[in-house]
Amino acid sequence: MHFTPRLQQLLSTLRCLPGVGPKSAQRMAFHLLDRDRDRAAELAQALQSALDEVGHCKNCRMFAEQALCPICADQKRDASLLCVVETPADVIAVDESGSFRGRYFVLMGRLSPLDGIGPEELGIELLDGRLGEEQIAELILATSATVEGEATAAYIASFAAKHGIRATRIAHGVPMGGELEYVDSGTLSLAISARTSIKAE
Ligand code: ZN
Repeated sequence: MHFTPRLQQLLSTLRCLPGVGPKSAQRMAFHLLDRDRDRAAELAQALQSALDEVGHCKNCRMFAEQALCPICADQKRDASLLCVVETPADVIAVDESGSFRGRYFVLMGRLSPLDGIGPEELGIELLDGRLGEEQIAELILATSATVEGEATAAYIASFAAKHGIRATRIAHGVPMGGELEYVDSGTLSLAISARTSIKAE
């Protein structure tokens, strides 16, 4: 290849983005360097500033720039409902469905022993603490409809049972193997309203 060392480094860095292969990385790099150097500088600055300032909410693990994310800080949300999801994108998807006005807990993944993802990585201790301290009437398990997502929901339901909290699982509408992030808001709205109880093992 005829790339200079810095260009080569930029290309391989761009490829860390999901869905970006060698051709796309090359197109992006050439566009930024050749056509839009001002925006390229803005991009570098925005990325650095996000890295410096965006962390995780101490309550729900959603992205936040303060100790609490905007949802946890919102006193108008129903504190008796807690919805457990896998990713920040799932929070956005469920919230945009408009059928849920409670609060969230973001696992940042799902149980996957083969990938080394256990209860510790998912912040289960923090969730368990919230179940013990807060006045939660219902825990809605909105993990994905995958084998790991179901196993994660069943595992968390056992914590709800321990605290005497009703656990429900989102149902109809979400396709098998589907990621919440890619489900349209009508389908997701139906799934939330048709949620069912889940039995702890
Ligand atoms: Zn939060």
